[in-house]
Amino acid sequence: MDNQKHKLATRLIHAGVEPDPTTGAIMTPIYQTSTYVQEAPGVHKGYEYARTQNPTRAVLQNALANIENGKYGLCFGSGMAATDAVAKLLMPGDEVIVANDLYGGTYRIFTKVFANYGIKFHFIDMSNPENIRGYINDHTKMIWAETPTNPLLNIVDIEACGTIAKEHGLILVVDNTFASPYLQNPLDWGADIVLHSATKYLGGHSDVVHGALIMNSAELEEKLRFIQNSCGAVPGPHDVWLVLRGIKTLHVRMQRHCENGRTVAEFLRAHPKVDKVYWTGFEDHPNHQVAKKQMRDFGGMLSFTLKDDSIDAANDVLRKTQLFSLAESLGGVESLIGHPATMTHGSIPREQRIANGLSDSLIRLSVGIEDIDDLIADLKQAIG
Ligand SMILES: *Cc1c(COP(=O)(O)O)cnc(C)c1O
Repeated sequence: MDNQKHKLATRLIHAGVEPDPTTGAIMTPIYQTSTYVQEAPGVHKGYEYARTQNPTRAVLQNALANIENGKYGLCFGSGMAATDAVAKLLMPGDEVIVANDLYGGTYRIFTKVFANYGIKFHFIDMSNPENIRGYINDHTKMIWAETPTNPLLNIVDIEACGTIAKEHGLILVVDNTFASPYLQNPLDWGADIVLHSATKYLGGHSDVVHGALIMNSAELEEKLRFIQNSCGAVPGPHDVWLVLRGIKTLHVRMQRHCENGRTVAEFLRAHPKVDKVYWTGFEDHPNHQVAKKQMRDFGGMLSFTLKDDSIDAANDVLRKTQLFSLAESLGGVESLIGHPATMTHGSIPREQRIANGLSDSLIRLSVGIEDIDDLIADLKQAIG
């Protein structure tokens, strides 16, 4: 299909997908093969070995590139495998400026794995991008941002980061997992690499772990494809196919996630036992104007704290919800509830966690696409 000619809803269904040339099958087959027959050494149809290329994966890579308004897509066995590949662009002595409010696994791989290879990470408040400038020196190679952030739903101005990155020749990486391409396309605002945990909204059904990178630069694509093939963190064809199927309904799911998210955010804000509600759609959210600029709507992720700010009070709510299942992860059709302090962000030391604003009672919701009346009733009985 012609690249960016159609609107997103059409591209989500058709981009990169052609009927199977041998049978006409409308859905991309799962090419469950590890190798491909060659006519003579080196004479083949473009496929040699499935770590390097797989036809199912090639279709998804093209589809993801298309829906992120990028030229190239690369698929990985998980979001963390994609993060790992990007970090391998760095050399000992290089420095990275990272938003301090980010996915716990990303914090962990930087501080516990890549720091051991002599790479230095500065974790800073990026809600004002000008803060970045104070950390740039001759060793700085990369800026790493997540927006909206996890779990405090802070917004980082991608365009402002892109300007600073360009001025200093740095690579700007944006983890777009929370927003999904339905809400936000970071490449349009100056990002160099977009990262996804496709485990979340892209897959959308909590049935697959998968990661992806999308970029416009042929040079970056070549380096990252080399790392993908050399290090080997590729997804299997069945997982690829699940993501390919998932993205066909991304727009329909996201529309409902956004509607339900708004209703839950407003309900919580009016609740007497709730202290703060973190949701980017509130007009008094500190970076609401930036969110409005770079996002098309505000999504189904939100967090809140209780007036009784204790782990016990949070646990009480977590124990009582019935439709909101207590689980890590997010972005599936079913609603999930989580406790960052003891779950996703358990690997961040308490002092640092509190300093970053993740208090003991903070509860994160991934609002699903069930009937909104049932979701509200569930929260009502759980919070009391
Ligand atoms: C889940 C997640 C990741 C890691 O992805 P996996 O698929 O679990 O490896 C990275 N970033 C964000 C924002 C996430 O939510």
